[in-house]
Amino acid sequence: MALDADWAERWVRRTAQAVADAKDELTELDRQIGDGDHGENLHRGFQAVVARLDDTAAQPAADEERTVGDVLKLVATTLMSTVGGASGPLYGTAYLRAAKVSGRSQIDPPAVVAVLEAALEGVASRGKATVGEKTMVDAWQAAVDAAEAAADDGGSEVDVLRAAAEAADTASTGTIPLVATKGRASYLGERSAGHEDPGARSTALVLGAAMAAAVS
Ligand code: ADP
Ligand code: MG
Ligand code: MG
Repeated sequence: MALDADWAERWVRRTAQAVADAKDELTELDRQIGDGDHGENLHRGFQAVVARLDDTAAQPAADEERTVGDVLKLVATTLMSTVGGASGPLYGTAYLRAAKVSGRSQIDPPAVVAVLEAALEGVASRGKATVGEKTMVDAWQAAVDAAEAAADDGGSEVDVLRAAAEAADTASTGTIPLVATKGRASYLGERSAGHEDPGARSTALVLGAAMAAAVS
């Protein structure tokens, strides 16, 4: 199936639903090693995104075809203006960079990899974090590596997104034993070990939604 702007919109709406469903879980993870607001932060942001998508849907179609990047840019600007805390600018930058490489009506498997790579670079440069610091970068990096491998194997768009989502999920669980060296959790030092990073978990939700939107 071709991944187009309608896919991107389904992705974003599914993300909003997944975040709503997992709001308490994300908040509980953040209560253990942060300030207990990650679920609420993302929920507020994605509810605002859905509201803006609903507004856009009510308007008459523009002459030019909507691109994947148009949808991702709307997400970026909305998250940046509605999500406080570290995750707003981090996700905002991720979606903004992803939007910049997806300004066309359809994306193929190599372009899906490029979108994920751009998102990773956005998070990593904004947060100045590298892999192994117990942040969402751990999930994004694993997703990019798996997506690249799937695309190199000749996988479809769905194969690439499935590989990315599964790798992010595994990497999120993989943050449990790590000691945080970036973000609020780093204030806990060694005591951050033994807990899953909330941003890595939400990244797995975002990518799981991307995959689900591609098969529906
Ligand atoms: P805050 O910590 O400001 O309350 P959130 O709770 O919404 O913000 O988001 C916390 C998540 O943001 C962390 O679990 C982590 O994944 C991510 N994060 C925090 N700081 C950084 C950073 N410097 N680089 C990458 N990710 C980070
Ligand atoms: Mg927090
Ligand atoms: Mg906070």
